[in-house]
Amino acid sequence: MSSAAKHPTWMEIDLDALDGNIREVQKRVGPAVKIIASVKANAYGHGVIPVAQRLAAAHIEMLATGSFNDAIALREAGINTPILMFGAMLPSAIQEFLQFRLTPTVHNKEMAEAVAAQTQMPLGVFIKVDCGFGRLGIPIRKAHRFVLDLARRSHVEVVGLYTHLPFFDEASYVWAQERIAKFEDLVTALAGDGLTIPITQARASAAIVTGIKDHCTAVSPGGILYGHSPVAGSLSDTSGFRPVMTSLCSRLIHISHDANDRTPGYEGIYATRVKGATGVVPFGRSDGNRVAVPGKLAYMLLHGVKVPVLGVSLEHSVLDLSAVNNPKIGDEVVILGSSDGVEITLEQIAAWWGVGLNDVLMAINDRIRQKFLPSALNEGPVPSVFPATP
Ligand SMILES: *Cc1c(COP(=O)(O)O)cnc(C)c1O
Repeated sequence: MSSAAKHPTWMEIDLDALDGNIREVQKRVGPAVKIIASVKANAYGHGVIPVAQRLAAAHIEMLATGSFNDAIALREAGINTPILMFGAMLPSAIQEFLQFRLTPTVHNKEMAEAVAAQTQMPLGVFIKVDCGFGRLGIPIRKAHRFVLDLARRSHVEVVGLYTHLPFFDEASYVWAQERIAKFEDLVTALAGDGLTIPITQARASAAIVTGIKDHCTAVSPGGILYGHSPVAGSLSDTSGFRPVMTSLCSRLIHISHDANDRTPGYEGIYATRVKGATGVVPFGRSDGNRVAVPGKLAYMLLHGVKVPVLGVSLEHSVLDLSAVNNPKIGDEVVILGSSDGVEITLEQIAAWWGVGLNDVLMAINDRIRQKFLPSALNEGPVPSVFPATP
């Protein structure tokens, strides 16, 4: 593992946990409901190619992302599962989408014109409706007319209709339920006009973990596939889901046994804060780390002991090793995950930083080498974000 020694910081991605989470989603929504798996943002920072390969092997209906680069990387990796493009494009990109067999989302009239103007083939599109989240989509009150108009165009087939209603607290549960009901009314009204759309979808992670039901034919989970619920509190039932990113680790590259030397003129800046040694791990701001917000104290784990983080610089974190017996260069430091029965969760790190779970995942993302479990996978081609080091 020579490359590991050059920058001994890595994350472990347990693809069996991903499988388990897909099964749990399927169990909750029922066997007939299709799964459109969100792999946006490099599969929430877990590595889009290995994750998508596993999802494809589990026979999910579609993958979904807004990233054109990720979508092309998936095609180049030989993944032929249909890919729904959530939308991050200008209408003029439509030809390129078709070239890679990506399914576009029509979320405004400009996109509708672009898909109607292409004449290559009958093009299957999804229409996105805004039911109140206020981001992409045709406003729900205008959607009925819009969908019928687009479905009438030649060369266009409306194969999917969806909305997105994410929420993060229990107070929004009723709001989401009401808006999903409005979306279902739209689906029913369209069917009344003779337009039955094969794929309808309104539920993402928040609706799934809080047990909201609907009559749509698909769900589109993201966060919960990776084991993280966007909703905190008792409404959210996460039993059966586990984190796919099981750990984030580094190693001590330096130990300073004299860090507590208080001799005037020789004392270091941590001298009054530590009783014993300090240690350094190569996990700095450039790796995604950051300092805790005022009033919070971040720590890592060494031999199951909580070691406070004293400082975070561009390429390093400095740790207080006062409570550790006999630390050695190369000792494993757990940043996320468990060590001798003590655990640091993604939720804790997010609280130290004063951010959300996805912010932590996006900060680390592809800056850190990924190790995939089961380990047999690591012998295959390395995902393109990590050029193989000799
Ligand atoms: C991100 C996204 C999802 C998945 O959302 P989660 O809250 O991560 O489950 C579903 N649909 C759309 C349109 C999205 O943008």
